[in-house]
Amino acid sequence: MEKISFFGLGNMGGPMAANLVRAGYEVCVFDLVPAAVEELVNLGATKAETPEEVVKGANVIISMLPAGKHVASLYEGLIGSSELSNANLKKGALVIDCSTIDAGTIQSLSVKLEQIGVNCIDAPVSGGVAGATNGTLSFMVGGNEKSFNQAKPLLEVMGKNVFHAGDVGAGQIAKVCNNMLLSILMVGTSEALQLGIDNGLDPKVLSEIMSNSSGSNWTLDVYNPCPGVQETAPASNDYKPGFMTNLMLKDLGLAMDTAVNSGSATPMGSLTRNMYALHQKLGNGDLDFSSIFNQFSQK
Ligand code: NAD
Repeated sequence: MEKISFFGLGNMGGPMAANLVRAGYEVCVFDLVPAAVEELVNLGATKAETPEEVVKGANVIISMLPAGKHVASLYEGLIGSSELSNANLKKGALVIDCSTIDAGTIQSLSVKLEQIGVNCIDAPVSGGVAGATNGTLSFMVGGNEKSFNQAKPLLEVMGKNVFHAGDVGAGQIAKVCNNMLLSILMVGTSEALQLGIDNGLDPKVLSEIMSNSSGSNWTLDVYNPCPGVQETAPASNDYKPGFMTNLMLKDLGLAMDTAVNSGSATPMGSLTRNMYALHQKLGNGDLDFSSIFNQFSQK
């Protein structure tokens, strides 16, 4: 059975690592927050003091970190120390980075990892904290066929859909396309709901009508941004995340960088990025991204 190292035990990484431990894998964990590490150790994971010790002897290294700079700094450090001592990253090991970061960072890391005999894939996820907890995430994988096939059984422990998007970096491109569309749907749904409310409609009734008509979409049907329409949605729980405005804004920044690189026209994505930037500046960065509804509903 694979011996796994897991870096980043936050909202997503914590429950993902827990599912691997529960499935019987030998998992050694690392996070900058000691309480997050202890939680996993209590479930049966092991811990080590430094990243170098964590990866010793591991066949698979998984990371779930906030942004590209964290991922680059972790692996640059490990590559540097493995060049000095081959006891660290093992030849033939597989790196699976699940963080949402720019495709360029993972592509350049993959070249450097390959030079020391380590394979690498990007495998960003969709499905949020609930998906991570229940093991129902969707993984969007970029990498070669062999690495994809090696990773698949592990990813299936943490998720229910595992897609092969293409070469290294392709998973990240799929992820930013998805999240750009998600933000556009969220803003559009908020706008339509408030138009109905301003003209005397009950948002529950309007939501039911649109969910069963051509306006149906995920943000309306299962993540409704209007408080009181769906009991389980963050909107009905003071917009407690869920998926923070700060993280959506980060992903929209990645989408815009990607569009500039490829010369693509993304007018709707650009508009929603600016709306989320303003929303963050107004103090809503830590709220769920569906709180953008407040920009339409405030009198
Ligand atoms: P988080 O901030 O809750 O967790 C990140 C963890 O990484 C923290 O515990 C932090 O201490 C740790 N960390 C930072 N630097 C580290 C290092 N060098 N070594 C070890 N640990 C380190 O973030 P999250 O919500 O778990 O998100 C992680 C990634 O997943 C992000 O890229 C995010 O965009 C993406 N994502 C999040 C969601 C969501 O709903 N929260 C959904 C899909 C994708």
